[in-house]
Formats: sequence, structure tokens, C-alpha cells
Amino acid sequence: MFNKSKGKRGFFLEDYTLNPYSGCSFDCIYCYINGSKYADNTNSFYVKSNAINLVYTFLKRLYKNNERALLNLGSSSDPYMDIEKDLNLTREILKTFLRFKNPVHIITKSDLILKDIDILDKINEVAILPDDLKDNLNSKVIISFSFSTIDDEIAKIMEPNAPLPSDRLKTMKKLSNKGFKVGATFMPILPFISDSGDDLKEAIFEFSKNNCQYVIPGAMSLFGNNDESSRIKYYNAIKKYFPEYLDKTENLFYDKKSLVKKEYPSNKYQNGLYKKVRKYCSEYNISTTIIKNKLSKI
Ligand code: SF4
Repeated sequence: MFNKSKGKRGFFLEDYTLNPYSGCSFDCIYCYINGSKYADNTNSFYVKSNAINLVYTFLKRLYKNNERALLNLGSSSDPYMDIEKDLNLTREILKTFLRFKNPVHIITKSDLILKDIDILDKINEVAILPDDLKDNLNSKVIISFSFSTIDDEIAKIMEPNAPLPSDRLKTMKKLSNKGFKVGATFMPILPFISDSGDDLKEAIFEFSKNNCQYVIPGAMSLFGNNDESSRIKYYNAIKKYFPEYLDKTENLFYDKKSLVKKEYPSNKYQNGLYKKVRKYCSEYNISTTIIKNKLSKI
């Protein structure tokens, strides 16, 4: 249920990750949980029915020990997939966060988060940040909206069951205007589809128009080799919808020297990508980290 982050804070700043669900119904074809230890595929998911008890026990122990922690909801499953409408599991977990004055970082693609504004508001009022974050964060609620593209039509192919990017942008604006720390995890940026200078500039302009306070970029990664793996699902989609990019995409994830498939594109590709993101973020005055000038991935 709880995974402790190793060492010093990463770019999501969390001390622990926690996911109310396992697997994810949004079914993004590039999702790294496809064929991973987290789920066979993104067509199925599980509800962690004992989650509330476990969260209660965990947070009570932290509270008793006077230990403060930032918990991240949504590292390997969206906490606001559609079933949350009926189950309210994430909502109940947030209520437990509130009870123990615990701050939270939520990563989601869904506007369903709006149903929990009342709880998030209260968490923002009373939660206590870990000492090392106190002076750097003015919100006890961090909300990152996840994007691979801002194009609704492309998203319908790549993220078939997720709310559209245009809805995410509107939700981002609403929540940012409510006083939460709100930004975008722009990952994975889709090679040859959303990674050109023009595409990135347009996306970051849209983020800025919608009061996005930070953009954390990430290049594509592809894992596995079976039909359910992110690599094969992604290649199949490219073959069907963007056949002109298939060779280029496969080459990006292939090491010609060792003749093996790679999980990540070259450093050269990644550095070029991050350089462009940095340039446009600076143009639109958006940070590339949650805490300005700290923990930059790029
Ligand atoms: S929303 Fe996130 S966890 Fe869910 S399928 Fe998409 S990438 Fe995976």
C-alpha cells in the first residue's frame, strides 16, 4: 500500500506513494503498468478494499511519532478513474489525510477531482508540511495533471478512456485559482507526435493560459515485448494511426550497436527535448519543478 521513496526528494517531492486502486481503467496505451508487476494490462483494475483502514493506521502512527510526510496519490494508477464516482475510496482516504493533518500530492488525468474540493480546501488549511518543505511551498495540496499531448483527437487514440486534455486544462485553471499548487506532469511526451518545437510551445502556452504553475516533463519509455506490454501496444497504435512514424519510433528505442531494444530514447534525444521544454517554460514564465529552482529533472 505504501512505498517509501528512497533518499532525498525526487521531482514529485513525495516521502511515500500510495494508490487506492491497482491497475487503471483509463487504459493509456503507453502506460508503463501494461505488462508490469502493477497489472497485466490497463483493461482491468482492482480496488484496494482495505485501503482506508491501512491509511488510518499508517497516518495515525506518523502523527503519534510527530513525523510529517508528503504522500503522493496516483503514481501507478489514477485515483480518479470512473469507478471513484461510485466508491469514493479516494475521497475517504483524503478525509483520513484531513483527520491527521497530512499534506498530499495528487497526480491525475481526471476532472472528477473537483468533487473533492471541499476536503482539499480543508487539508490546505490545516495540514502540516515536512520541515524541509515548509519554507518552499505555500500549499499543502499539490495537484499535477498528467498530459502526453494537449490534442483531444490524439488523446482519444493514446488515452482512450481518460477525460480529454481540454477538460484537464479547464480543471487545472479552476484548482489553481482556488489556491492549490497546480501544474502539469507532461509525460510521456510522444516522440514525433507531441515533441516538436511547435507542439511543445503550443502545449506550454496552453498550460500557462490555464494558470499552470509548473511543468515536469518526461520522455517516453517503453517496456516489455509481449502483446500486453507498453512497447507492443504503443507500436501497434503507431502502426495503425501514425504509420509514417513507425520506423522512426522503433529506431528511437533500438540500439544499433548492440542490436537490442531499448526502454529509453538516447540521452541526446532526451536532452534535446528537455532543452526545448525549458526554453518555452522560461518564455511563458513557468517553472520546470514544483519548487522553483530546485530538484530540476532537466
Ligand atoms: S492514467 Fe496513468 S496510470 Fe492510468 S492508464 Fe493512464 S498512464 Fe496509466
